[in-house]
Amino acid sequence: MTMDRKDPATLLELAIQSLLNNEPAAIHALREIPRELFPPLFTAAFKGGCKKTLAAMVKTWPFFCLHIGKLGVQEAHDECLKAMIDGLQVLPEQNTATGGSKLKILDLRPQSDCRTTCSHIITKSPVCFHSCPYFQNFPLKREAQHSTANLGSQSQLPRNPTELVVDISLDNTLRATEFLCLLLNKVEQSIGCLHLCCRDLQIYKLSKYKNKVKFLNMLCIDHLKVDQASLSEANKLLSQMVLLDSLTLSKITFRSLNGKVFRTFLSHLERMDNLQELHLSYFCIRDHLHEVLRVLPNDLDFLNLRFCELSYRDFTFLSQSHQATHLKLLNLSNNPVSWEDSGPLRILLENLSGTLQHLELNHCLIADSTVSALIPALSRCSHLRVFSFASNPITMSMLMRIVQHLTLLMELKYVFYPIPVHCYEQWHPHGNLDQQKLAEVKAQLKMMLHRVQRNDMNWNTFSE
Ligand SMILES: [Zn+2]
Ligand SMILES: [Zn+2]
Repeated sequence: MTMDRKDPATLLELAIQSLLNNEPAAIHALREIPRELFPPLFTAAFKGGCKKTLAAMVKTWPFFCLHIGKLGVQEAHDECLKAMIDGLQVLPEQNTATGGSKLKILDLRPQSDCRTTCSHIITKSPVCFHSCPYFQNFPLKREAQHSTANLGSQSQLPRNPTELVVDISLDNTLRATEFLCLLLNKVEQSIGCLHLCCRDLQIYKLSKYKNKVKFLNMLCIDHLKVDQASLSEANKLLSQMVLLDSLTLSKITFRSLNGKVFRTFLSHLERMDNLQELHLSYFCIRDHLHEVLRVLPNDLDFLNLRFCELSYRDFTFLSQSHQATHLKLLNLSNNPVSWEDSGPLRILLENLSGTLQHLELNHCLIADSTVSALIPALSRCSHLRVFSFASNPITMSMLMRIVQHLTLLMELKYVFYPIPVHCYEQWHPHGNLDQQKLAEVKAQLKMMLHRVQRNDMNWNTFSE
């Protein structure tokens, strides 16, 4: 025998390829092949864009769940996804007609760390690690919520609906609108036997999609991103959500920080016990950050407050807040403040030195004296991987001092640094740059990194 060890895998691949070269034969073979072959055949059919085979595989899938997982990460395979949605049999009579698919969870989310199916050959009982958290955690609440919330055709779910799990991004493209229509049609045809489970919803220009999103079940969403909306529109969405892990709100308009709409927003935030990440940008909360912090859970991981017009007073509250004591990510960029005293920033970094991995302080009007006061606290952030403090008025000598200290942080790999003030005719983030001087700065930096053997670090300006 001349077969070497890798031959079995190669033979399986060859067999699958030859099967897929003849789609009608592949579809016919689905009735006979052992169920262990379904996952590798599915992977090959997805990669090869064999739509008919994919639809047929969904119809006859012998496991409880099917996840596209990492196959969906590389690129969008719209036609494959559509074929799979088409193939999904949700009505009981459809299932008997095709010999009975065991599929109850079709998961079309791109996820890098997910297997094609959670079921194992030896397990008898159906199991899926990604089934709808809402049905798992809130079986009782569900009845109550369904009777009150306007959930369209989803309000009368049977005990065991098939789950179609998706991430939805509504970005004003034809593609997004078509995909949403396809999903909503499928729900409608299923007469209550299909649960469209959206976990990650991103909406650009909420006012355009107001009428469409009301057909989605908001209770399952764990990640929400809304870009461009009035706060009262965003409140309407939030009022239906209970399981949010991550909330991103950008370019949000409202009349007053002392008005009812902002108070309603705070009351919604207060209900979000699971919230791990809050990202606000272009969302003015000047002098009201303390009210936001007060309603956030204590174990928040990410706090992103870019372009929030924060005041010195807000920074002071932040440094005293429990919610900012074990953050992994903090972004306070584009909140220019006149730093008469660097105390709040220093205390904040001291509090976070044990956990912080990602820090951004771009364009905050931080000058030498403030940086100098921050260096001891920064030097203690031993988990820091990314530090960005571009577009701040720093001198060359201060930059060199920072380099000396930051190169001691071994986890730190990415730094975005400010171009020193002497490189500008007159300092301004968009001011005229002397390219020759900038080139000298870069050369000197490179030399310093080399000298301390930190060539693994990436130091860049925003101009690169
Ligand atoms: Zn699963
Ligand atoms: Zn769900």
